[in-house]
Amino acid sequence: MATVDQLSSQEAIALEDKHGAHNYHPLPVVLSKGEGVYVWDVEGKKYYDFLSAYSAVNQGHCHPRIVNAMTEQAKTLTLTSRAFYNDTLGPYEKYATEYFDFDKLLPMNTGAEAVETAIKLARKWAYEKKGVEEHEAQIIVCENNFHGRTTTIISFSNDEGARKNFGPYTPGFIKIPYDDVDALENALKSHKNIAGFLVEPIQGEAGVYTPADDYMRKAQALCNKHEVLFIADEIQTGIARTGGLLAVCGNCSCESHCEKQEDTYAQPDILILGKALSGGAYPVSAVLANDHIMEVIKPGQHGSTFGGNPIAGAVATAALEVVRDEHLIQNARKLGTIFREKMQEFVDSSSIATLVRGRGLLNAVVINDTEDSSTAWDICMALRDNGLLAKPTHGNIIRFAPPLVMNEKQLIECTDIIIKTLKQFEK
Ligand code: PLP
Repeated sequence: MATVDQLSSQEAIALEDKHGAHNYHPLPVVLSKGEGVYVWDVEGKKYYDFLSAYSAVNQGHCHPRIVNAMTEQAKTLTLTSRAFYNDTLGPYEKYATEYFDFDKLLPMNTGAEAVETAIKLARKWAYEKKGVEEHEAQIIVCENNFHGRTTTIISFSNDEGARKNFGPYTPGFIKIPYDDVDALENALKSHKNIAGFLVEPIQGEAGVYTPADDYMRKAQALCNKHEVLFIADEIQTGIARTGGLLAVCGNCSCESHCEKQEDTYAQPDILILGKALSGGAYPVSAVLANDHIMEVIKPGQHGSTFGGNPIAGAVATAALEVVRDEHLIQNARKLGTIFREKMQEFVDSSSIATLVRGRGLLNAVVINDTEDSSTAWDICMALRDNGLLAKPTHGNIIRFAPPLVMNEKQLIECTDIIIKTLKQFEK
């Protein structure tokens, strides 16, 4: 059989097409190497990565420190399952709980698993601590949410593509508009039995919808008032992406999850992390909560064979160290401001781009065409040809999320490429 490095792009695409399920629609580019902010295709063409594997590669591709932690651990011990203890999990849990300021961490692998974990945790807490009658617990979610692809999670999605013909759906969810404090208050007042409010601090997949600065803080206060758990899904927004350690840190760019910014800071009761928790090197996700919540989960009630494995612990610890040691929070904040300034300047006189929005280095440009048009896709194809990889999120919105190890010179080069490409599409 031919080895992968002998394949042309066309051959690799044809193989996936024939032998793989068609559950994605990738941009036609076949990557074989990554380093920092760059990726290379099998023909050797170099690109700026402006997706970062949906914000998993915040620390840059193949970060030597993360790769080293992974390979060293892989040579020693890879998997024990949780039937036994291992000598990596405890130190990782200590490091991560101190890093994010929670009592405890429950380790999982993918983002969707971590969201499932948070849902189970909130429901169990509601029955055992809040006194909600069995089988009656409800979780409030937002319209246009994206929390993953499991049967329960798609049950409260309003993306018809993600839902249709996958029913019957899991009950127990109440949907309200995003960034609407009054809607949250009404839902909290008119339903008893609410266990939690599950929310993305910025809706990434929906098109980088960035709520009012005080939305998280006000939502958290309402949850507190109604004895409801405030559950932040920071799988995409967390770990420096939006210019704070977490997006719920609001205006604060320090390296810990502190309470400096009283007007915008929100303290989640349950924090969900994934993606960049491993720097994109390995599937690592986690749910963090304080003892009075986490203690409702007892042995045998939740788990995963791979959750908390030694490689995951070593990789995640290194990935978090890199964020701190390389000051990625401050870099994302600084470069994000430059990105939006440059793009705004362009948008102001453009007929093809109508809006730029985002926070830190999680940004989106809205293209002046209908949602069902192919214009955003065509622009991404032209960006590819011009050496930069990005992807539409929904219809006419293009997300721009480079690795956070980018420097200012590279960012300016990238905004030049993006503007030059968009100009090709001016009406
Ligand atoms: N939650 C959010 C906010 C996400 O952006 C994603 C993935 O894009 C997920 C959950 C699901 O993560 P995973 O794809 O690792 O299951």
